[in-house]
Amino acid sequence: MAASPGPDETSTSPQPTVVLAARAAALDAAFGMADVPERLSGIVAQAAGPVVFTTSFGLEDQVLTHFIATAKLPVIFATLDTGRLFPEVYALWQETEERYGILIRPYYPRHDAVELYVRQNGINGFYGSRDARKSCCDIRKVEPLGRALAGADTWLTGLRADQSAARGGVKLAEADAARGLVKASPLIDWSRERTLAFAEANDVPINPLHAQGFVSIGCQPCTRAIRPGEPERAGRWWWEDDAAKECGLHVGSDGKLARAKIAPAEAHA
Ligand code: SF4
Repeated sequence: MAASPGPDETSTSPQPTVVLAARAAALDAAFGMADVPERLSGIVAQAAGPVVFTTSFGLEDQVLTHFIATAKLPVIFATLDTGRLFPEVYALWQETEERYGILIRPYYPRHDAVELYVRQNGINGFYGSRDARKSCCDIRKVEPLGRALAGADTWLTGLRADQSAARGGVKLAEADAARGLVKASPLIDWSRERTLAFAEANDVPINPLHAQGFVSIGCQPCTRAIRPGEPERAGRWWWEDDAAKECGLHVGSDGKLARAKIAPAEAHA
């Protein structure tokens, strides 16, 4: 397996928001009705710099990994290891690299920030308050994501529109003004059922926790299985209000959080 250069090693100049918005609109127009392989090849072809796919090894991310890897597209795989993931995620990480012959670039939180957080809040301090939880997500996810995407031209995500009410407005492509890149979600109009059926039909490795009711899988202490009829993301930060439970990783085209009332620093699932 050969490591790809990271986006921060081949950085491009930031593009004006109007240019990003025009590029996103062009992708929507050209590939909004296309299948996933065509969307991916079109997204990669329009990129003016590195294309980065951030995976958390969820069902959608695994299917997208399958599409990207089998087409051998020049995409950089990246993941955020918060240090609090399920053991099953680490096993799937290795299995995925071996299955597809890829290297997934890891990004870790700053050790000094984690050490200070735990000293001040305790090892599970995120249960104490929403602010404490947001601060933990900021340190373990948002800051490392910024490094993973530094210098990227295009960001690929496994978002689907129907994952929660708050994600309903996500488009195939949109301008991420805050990061100065185009953000594209090739599975945007797929249902969970379609995604799971594709994974099963194509022997895509997926997390065994999905079969135990864990639908949206994040950090171990902040994820539970959901009951029949509950929304997909009900198992994330279940002790908080349901209105907009996100970790702050996705922002809207205006540079503000798309589903943001709990966003870290209001600046940036
Ligand atoms: S999901 Fe939980 S453990 Fe993970 S970064 Fe957020 S608060 Fe911390």
